[in-house]
Amino acid sequence: MSTFNIAVIKGDGIGPEVTASAMNVLTKIGERFNHKFNFTESVCGGCAYDKYGEPLPKESLDICLASDSVLLGAVGGPQYDNLPYELRPERALLGVRKAMQLYANLRPAKMFEALKSVCPLKNPKNIDIMVVRELIGGIYFGEKGVRDGKMGREGYDVMAYGELEIERICRTAFELAQKRRGKVSSVDKANVLKTSGVWRKVVHEIHEDYPDVQLEDVLVDNMAMQLVREPSQFDVVVTGNLFGDILSDLASQCVGSIGILPSASINETTRGLYEPIHGSAPTIAGKNIANPIATILSAAMMLKYAFNLMEEGDAIESAVEKTLNSGARTADLREEGHEVLGTREMTDLIIKNI
Ligand code: NAD
Repeated sequence: MSTFNIAVIKGDGIGPEVTASAMNVLTKIGERFNHKFNFTESVCGGCAYDKYGEPLPKESLDICLASDSVLLGAVGGPQYDNLPYELRPERALLGVRKAMQLYANLRPAKMFEALKSVCPLKNPKNIDIMVVRELIGGIYFGEKGVRDGKMGREGYDVMAYGELEIERICRTAFELAQKRRGKVSSVDKANVLKTSGVWRKVVHEIHEDYPDVQLEDVLVDNMAMQLVREPSQFDVVVTGNLFGDILSDLASQCVGSIGILPSASINETTRGLYEPIHGSAPTIAGKNIANPIATILSAAMMLKYAFNLMEEGDAIESAVEKTLNSGARTADLREEGHEVLGTREMTDLIIKNI
């Protein structure tokens, strides 16, 4: 029997409900495939601020750093909106990502056949995109501040990318493409930004090591258009932090609800952070109506990427697909003629299908 130690950040809002679902699913996988998953809670986010006066206490970070991988629900809520920047719940996330050096954020946007009708696009073809977003560099981490400028108060944020940062994220993208359909679309704004000019050069230099992968450059404004026009043309999309933040949300909406989309934040080691792309959805928290699928699929990504348990990860994905095919829906996927299940009931059905 193999044992895996997982740090669990339940976080705020619907976080505790959806992480409970994912933990139950992992426990079922452990029973079926003879693995032991040990869960240790790491208190982070708004709840950590309430309890300890800071969003990422050292002890919580140490639990993450000592684990084999981290499962996260979501952090944040309106009661924390007016806190100073360094005490906001989101700082916990940035802190964990930075401390674990998780530079690659993988966000798959895959269309479930059963959910084609909730897709906002008119004629969705098979959408299966993997957005690879650089996560710990670029404008979000550059020098920033407010100063007196010619036009009055002036806010500034510096965007910079170094060769090595670009190299490691695009290697992640090329290697993923080799296991998928062999195409990488690199997104930049090279017609205007110096940062993008260097980005594009480095991506092409590294591409020489991956002759089996097709590479195209797409300007970010065109990418936004193409994602809505014909998302099925994309396989792996690699881009920087800011563009990736926006485009991955856009890609996710092409396949339906935010409640079904997982993500992984990884580096070259096996340890990573696995979380749904949605936030803490405070208005539906504690009501047993949140969709647990995004967090359950994040657990499936953890099995595959962190623990190399491919069959086990596939078992979760198939169970989710089977459950959706049977017509079960949570409130966010509500469709006429379909029974609406609560968070716990949906989780139980998925577990039954494993
Ligand atoms: P959100 O993702 O929490 O909610 C957006 C909309 O989607 C809401 O209508 C919500 O009810 C719905 N929704 C989200 N997840 C759902 C689920 N699993 N099932 C059903 N419906 C779901 O985004 P927001 O409202 O912009 O942010 C709320 C809080 O979450 C804010 O404090 C924000 O800072 C935080 N946030 C956290 C993360 C994170 O922890 N990674 C990410 C985004 C936002």
